[in-house]
Amino acid sequence: MSAMARLSQADLVDLNNTFNQRTPQELLAWAVDVFGDRIAAMSSMQLAGNVICHMISGMPSPMPVVFVDTGVLFQETLDTRDRLSSEYGLTIRTLQPALTMQQQTEQLGILYLTTDGQKQCCELRKNVPLDAVKGDYDALIGSLRRADGGRRGTCPILSVDTRLNLLRVNVLANFSDEQMQEYIAANSVILNPLHDQGFSTIGCNRCTTPVLPTEPKRAGRWRHLGPWSVYCGINPTDMDPERAPAVDMPQDLVDRILGRTTDFSI
Ligand code: SF4
Repeated sequence: MSAMARLSQADLVDLNNTFNQRTPQELLAWAVDVFGDRIAAMSSMQLAGNVICHMISGMPSPMPVVFVDTGVLFQETLDTRDRLSSEYGLTIRTLQPALTMQQQTEQLGILYLTTDGQKQCCELRKNVPLDAVKGDYDALIGSLRRADGGRRGTCPILSVDTRLNLLRVNVLANFSDEQMQEYIAANSVILNPLHDQGFSTIGCNRCTTPVLPTEPKRAGRWRHLGPWSVYCGINPTDMDPERAPAVDMPQDLVDRILGRTTDFSI
């Protein structure tokens, strides 16, 4: 087995600059080539995640899709997952929290009504369940887009995920709203029907409302908490930056990621 090496966010700067010129499909092909079967896609069964599901469904052996079911999702979201599974032939790995929402409420109260409680609830119902994939993959395909603004306005294509010790690969980072709509129309991508009811983004049924056409896309997330809660933390680049983020991976994998030729053993 290859010796371990450290891969920091700073190591990825040049590659991220180069990758800004690549299409999502080119980035997906690169990721499959580098990570083989140690890769999965993440989807919350809304717009961008569904586009990724469609893109990978056309690949020779589609990677699995990881989906966190918090137990308080809309039925339409679960139905969308089932359609993507049956109609696109995808393997969807559904992760769930240890407690039902009722058990959690009995033990801890209604957490999502305060900003601190929301952080704890998202931690318990989204981030801890996702910890189950740690060690299974070296990369996760994400669906963050710069066109969504806010923290995502500058999200990198490649970012290290120190919690899961893997690389996040946001293949749609540069995909504009127009490109998304064109791709969806051209390929009749299966969509979560809630988008037609005014939901621009879709999370838990407790914490998501539709938005007005004049509002920012994420205005419907945690609306009851005011403008302080906008992200849940399941995507690390949404949160405050860590000081020197880095992950530990086998040296030969780090070399493959960075496109280095391994001539040191000659
Ligand atoms: S979005 Fe709301 S209900 Fe869902 S995990 Fe976060 S705080 Fe809890």
